[in-house]
Amino acid sequence: EPVDLVPVVEKVVETEKLGTDIHAFSVSIETKRTVIRGDRERLRQLFTNLVHNAVKYSPDGGTVAIRLYEHSGRLCVDVRDEGLGIPAEALPHIFEKFYRVDNSDRRRIGGTGLGLTIVKEIVKAHGGEVDVVSEEKKGSTFTVRFPMASITQEIN
Ligand code: ATP
Ligand code: MG
Repeated sequence: EPVDLVPVVEKVVETEKLGTDIHAFSVSIETKRTVIRGDRERLRQLFTNLVHNAVKYSPDGGTVAIRLYEHSGRLCVDVRDEGLGIPAEALPHIFEKFYRVDNSDRRRIGGTGLGLTIVKEIVKAHGGEVDVVSEEKKGSTFTVRFPMASITQEIN
């Protein structure tokens, strides 16, 4: 089914907003072609997991910024936070089942280590890919890219 990612992302943000009063949220739509073929409920789950992490791993607040844009013929979504960041040695593992960064030197933040595994599965099921750029104590940016083939033709 064709799914417009704009309302999907906006709904996720509205929901996550309810859980915090120390974060600001921004959603920036920089392309007109925001409709892909996919499963609306699974896509909602994907962005919920990413936005929820962005909030949870920013215990001091800050801005969670989401951008939709086209790059190299792909529809890309960035979820950026200003939180704890991820140590370089942990980056290759964060999408593994049950993997969690040891937070003992930081604050205790709960979780099961499944969120990003599910993210990766959903992205793959849509023919896309996900990666992350992160700097400790600065924040993280997760980028999801959907292939051109899954972008439905703009009609006008
Ligand atoms: P779950 O999502 O299953 O409740 P979780 O959040 O620990 O638990 P993942 O979402 O898979 O699991 O994330 C794996 C690990 O990657 C986390 O434990 C956390 O250390 C790190 N991580 C994920 N997203 C971020 C982020 N935005 N900023 C900093 N660290 C992150
Ligand atoms: Mg998580």
